[in-house]
Amino acid sequence: MKIDSKELPVADAFNIIGEIKGVEKPNEYVILSAHFDSWDGATGATDNGTGTLTMMEAMRILKKIYPNPKRTILVGHWGSEEQGLNGSRGFVEDHPEIVANIQAVFNQDNGTGRVTSLQGQGFLHAYDYLGRWLTKVPQHIRQYIETSFPGQPGTGGSDFASFVMAGLRPFH
Ligand SMILES: [Zn+2]
Repeated sequence: MKIDSKELPVADAFNIIGEIKGVEKPNEYVILSAHFDSWDGATGATDNGTGTLTMMEAMRILKKIYPNPKRTILVGHWGSEEQGLNGSRGFVEDHPEIVANIQAVFNQDNGTGRVTSLQGQGFLHAYDYLGRWLTKVPQHIRQYIETSFPGQPGTGGSDFASFVMAGLRPFH
């Protein structure tokens, strides 16, 4: 039987958003970001189940030990990243008032395999933070991680790019 692709149902994409409201500056945002979808031929365990779990666990811990943060913390589990960052692009398009007041975006999307590189993506002071964090990684793992600071601004590949394209810029 021949199937005309125009007859196939179109699946709606959706995002799952969680929030811990800020107490002092509720209209400023820190975004935790991880896409929720995967390719249909894969299990999605590492791309991006591990990213989703990392951000869910971060929110659980934050809610428990830091229940009244200064700024609002949002977690975005984006749909349809693999088809073109559609969930996160839709979010930035629908919420310019949030995007205008974002203080930081942490995106978790390691893909498959071990971490092999760490880049500053054009953030001039990225090394001050990432370099310090990297010193906590055991040497037998760290020795295989190639670093590039400040590096070039990221242009795509995961949901962070939706925020960069919406005007979020590296610190200067
Ligand atoms: Zn991914």
